[in-house]
Amino acid sequence: MNKGLLIVVSAPSGCGKGTVLKEILKDENYYYSVSATTREPREGETDGVHYRFYSREKFEKLVSDNIMLEHAEYCHNYYGTRGDIVEEMRNKGKDVILEIEVQGAMNVMKKCPEAISIFILPPSVRELERRLRKRGTEEEEVIAERLEKAIEEIGYAPRYKYIIVNDALENAVDDFKAVIKAEKLKAEYAGEILDEVIKNA
Ligand code: 5GP
Repeated sequence: MNKGLLIVVSAPSGCGKGTVLKEILKDENYYYSVSATTREPREGETDGVHYRFYSREKFEKLVSDNIMLEHAEYCHNYYGTRGDIVEEMRNKGKDVILEIEVQGAMNVMKKCPEAISIFILPPSVRELERRLRKRGTEEEEVIAERLEKAIEEIGYAPRYKYIIVNDALENAVDDFKAVIKAEKLKAEYAGEILDEVIKNA
């Protein structure tokens, strides 16, 4: 069995990456890495499902114990990925998806060069602003801050291996699946298939 892929996905908030990933995650071979964060849960968010909501003390302890694969501070809160869980799932053959911001993504790319990095772009910044307002879960001030952050983050898009524009959900999901399919067709993943072909010759 091949080790599962490590897939890093970033997008400014409001890009609809959650919706894209929800579609992708219908395939049970994926494992969505539930991040740790020190931010407060939003309405409808459940501990252990959307995030692991930790205190600053607990978060900092996991960082100093080297359990975090990566972590970053984003809008005054810590966010991070537990490396122990990622490894466990990849060793079980699951393709692990990390939905993380750009600093964390850069760190994962450095630590794990095999990671498949995907940046999801909005069709335009104007559309992004409209989507952020429509979501209605944030204060006006937070929207302005997130928009400014989004523009800064989009600057990192060229450092990812793949860029997907989320103009229509269906297209973005198809593009995502195409990326993963192409990755799995790489010769480096074909070891077992080659053995099989030769054995039956
Ligand atoms: P939100 O507060 O909107 O859920 O997330 C804010 C940002 O933090 C998003 O860009 C999200 O992708 C990112 N994020 C979520 N989990 C992690 C993580 O484990 N590590 C890093 N570096 N960023 C994360």
